[in-house]
Amino acid sequence: MVERTDEMKALLLKLKEETLKEINKSIKSTSELPSGDPSGDIYDQASSERDRELGLLLSDREREKLRNIDEALLRIQEGEYGICEECGCDIPLGRLKVVPFAHYCVKCKEDIEKMQAQTKRFEEERTYSEIPVSDEDDM
Ligand SMILES: [Zn+2]
Repeated sequence: MVERTDEMKALLLKLKEETLKEINKSIKSTSELPSGDPSGDIYDQASSERDRELGLLLSDREREKLRNIDEALLRIQEGEYGICEECGCDIPLGRLKVVPFAHYCVKCKEDIEKMQAQTKRFEEERTYSEIPVSDEDDM
């Protein structure tokens, strides 16, 4: 158990470091003219303005990632990391390595997604069949 979280902690810290580097890079690239980036094939034709937008978009996503990493690190500290919030079982290390921010085991995740899909469908059907008057006030 301890080894498990130790391994994930190291992985998360590394991920955090990489994310921070990535953010720094994107901040830098917004203030500099884009140079021939070999990985930027798709965005070759992007104007510097679109490039800047991309940078903002990226850092937004990276910020979200950082939040997830910090949250996961906190859960490690509190001994809650890697435990399924639904059934309380240990989430397999293999899954954590792929999805470091997983809150649920595969089975529960599938159940929850199924339930969410059902709820969504139900809500959609309800919206079409009867539109509550009070909803207009909420918009
Ligand atoms: Zn579970």
